[in-house]
Amino acid sequence: MSTGCVIGVDLGGTKLLAGAVDPALNVHHRAIRPARVADQAALLDMVVGVVGEVRDAIDGEGATVDAVGFGIPCMIDQERGTAVMSIHLPIVDLPFRDVMAERLGLPVFVDNDANAAMLAEWRFGAAAGARDAVMLTIGTGIGGGIVAGGALQRGSQGAGAEFGHMVVQDDGPPCPGNCPNHGCLEAMASGNALGREARRIAAERPDSGLGRALAAGREISGPLVTELAHDGDVAAIDAVTTIGRWLGVGVCSIVNILNPDVVVLGGGVIAAGELLLEPIRAEVATRALSPAREHVRILPARFGAESGMLGAAVLALEGIASPA
Ligand SMILES: [Zn+2]
Repeated sequence: MSTGCVIGVDLGGTKLLAGAVDPALNVHHRAIRPARVADQAALLDMVVGVVGEVRDAIDGEGATVDAVGFGIPCMIDQERGTAVMSIHLPIVDLPFRDVMAERLGLPVFVDNDANAAMLAEWRFGAAAGARDAVMLTIGTGIGGGIVAGGALQRGSQGAGAEFGHMVVQDDGPPCPGNCPNHGCLEAMASGNALGREARRIAAERPDSGLGRALAAGREISGPLVTELAHDGDVAAIDAVTTIGRWLGVGVCSIVNILNPDVVVLGGGVIAAGELLLEPIRAEVATRALSPAREHVRILPARFGAESGMLGAAVLALEGIASPA
């Protein structure tokens, strides 16, 4: 490896993934950390530490790091590089780009984490070649990204594309974090919602794989439900199907509003694969308007749970290639 790398950092609601990425999008070193921190200062220290670790590893291979890109679950003021607010992290009005550039001594580029994931999938992944595409990242929460008319769309203040906060059930459960709403798609169909639905089913059906896992004291989380569903446990498949139906209800509205060529589903929950995609496609086929419903392709993210990290790297690669 002789060319310069960039570091892509995906700062999720529960974990941080950083990687050294070359211009051909090969990942040379990865680092992962839990993102649960007490406050903003601890969060920044943790981020600086992880970037330093990846940089040291790459230095050891004789390569250079030219820039760092960040995808963070925040509303971003692109002009000032400020993280205005976050649903899941202790961040308020933080001049993230300038603070990081000073602490790291490198050019820094920053966008919302789901916009970064959309960028990776649009440039190199499942939405490559599309003029109109959307992405939903389904993890702790649900993030969204929009490409319309061949450009990323962030809305007037950078606060747009929040598909996770589209209401799908007006009297549904309270939305987590700083959202004041009820029955948002995120409250009904995130990884957390999958765990909640699976715990409910496990309690009702003690003889199922889910029920036995609950009785054995295992934590009924998204990854375990996905594993049991892939093993054929009907109760786990039912939990995944319920989440898929809610996602389908949301995707139906998105298809009707934006008429995209492609809807890309990413984030940790997409590990459920066709078990999740099938109910989404079924809802869209029966609910969305023609001809948008026949046109749209509903696909898993090519880069799986790494879309956000790779997108943050693409942000940095494109940023240093065309300075503003
Ligand atoms: Zn909400």
